[in-house]
Amino acid sequence: MAKIETDILIIGGGIAGCIAAISLIDTHRVILLDKVDTPKERIGESLAPAAQRILKELHLVNDLQSHQEQLYIQNLGMQSYWGSDQVHIVDHLRNPDGLSKSLNRKAFEEFLRKSAMARGVQCIWPTKLHRSTFEANQWHVTTKSDNHKEQHIQTKFVIDATGRQSHFARSLGIKRSHIDKLIACWVTLPNTEENKMSTITATENGWWYSAVIPQNKRVVAFQTDSDVVDRNTFKDLDSFREFAKGNTQITALLEKSKAEITFHGVVAANSTRLEQIVGQQWAALGDAAISFDPLSSQGMFNAMASAMQLKELLIASDIIHTPNSTKEAQFQKIYSQQINTIWDQYLYHKNVFYKAEMRWKESPFWKRRHTNHL
Ligand SMILES: Cc1cc2nc3c(=O)[nH]c(=O)nc-3n(C[C@H](O)[C@H](O)[C@H](O)COP(=O)(O)OP(=O)(O)OC[C@H]3O[C@@H](n4cnc5c(N)ncnc54)[C@H](O)[C@@H]3O)c2cc1C
Repeated sequence: MAKIETDILIIGGGIAGCIAAISLIDTHRVILLDKVDTPKERIGESLAPAAQRILKELHLVNDLQSHQEQLYIQNLGMQSYWGSDQVHIVDHLRNPDGLSKSLNRKAFEEFLRKSAMARGVQCIWPTKLHRSTFEANQWHVTTKSDNHKEQHIQTKFVIDATGRQSHFARSLGIKRSHIDKLIACWVTLPNTEENKMSTITATENGWWYSAVIPQNKRVVAFQTDSDVVDRNTFKDLDSFREFAKGNTQITALLEKSKAEITFHGVVAANSTRLEQIVGQQWAALGDAAISFDPLSSQGMFNAMASAMQLKELLIASDIIHTPNSTKEAQFQKIYSQQINTIWDQYLYHKNVFYKAEMRWKESPFWKRRHTNHL
């Protein structure tokens, strides 16, 4: 079996994994692997304005701008019907970081992967984490591709950036805590509207989200709890359209592009966290560490910002080039504190937002969000 050695193995080539790889490649040998050879079509397009600072720091802005047409459109802001029938508009016009970006998510992830490769990151895909052991102060990780080809990687540090599955940490027996049961069902369709602001609309059993994405397409999603709706509600496009009849604006959008809607189905959208996010010569990053409710629109920014924090800590502590148990303990303590602070802030804001909608106090979806435990 072929064996390669590296300083840092990053498992998961999504946004967290790519940003970590790009930020660490000047100071370490980095291998980045992913189970898919090309990123999947997925929901989650709104990139917070503050992400621009990270893209600048990594010298990605010029390249991004030169491919703007495929990658993103500028988004003026968000309108919401939340707490009342009155529309509230939050625009980014005075934001010092500029406007938010509505991404072509798949193309953006491809862009990050290509940038990582161009900077010298050794990228391996498609291949999956198969097993790992810790011996003589190194991780020995075996990956397996679809054709059962195994690859052995010996590494001084592992970053788990596998998203909500947190495959590496879970393979060590670490559990995830689930705060709620939120799911999202989503479709894409051609955009037919002049108003390109993203829109959020609260309803009795959850909330609608709609946003324009590049190539003049639109994403429409409904967020609810998996135990609030009947399991057949989001079985296919017909059942989704039937369900949408409860909302006149969404129905109007769906009707205008009836023949051209792509149904993508249901994805997990709940708030979850790993019970332990860092350990001996490994750390979890992005959704693998903590995953947010899409109401926050902060998941990608958190993945990017936490990758930069992790990079800074790894360089400052130098635990990879000059291992030392005192420094390692300090590194683990600080990284845990950083992620815990983000998580506590996130939960606080999540509570504030859900408690701002009090029209359906008795509906199970809202009632459980009006308690302090969520
Ligand atoms: C409905 C919904 C809407 C959202 N909307 C927004 C939004 O508007 N704005 C925003 O900022 N965020 C949004 N998010 C959140 C955002 O998508 C995530 O926070 C972000 O994808 C996290 O990036 P990541 O790199 O940590 O994980 P992921 O994007 O999940 O990447 C994980 C990578 O790991 C790979 N992988 C998984 N398992 C293995 C394995 N065993 N071996 C090898 N590779 C593996 C996967 O193929 C994938 O490429 C939304 C999320 C949902 C569910």
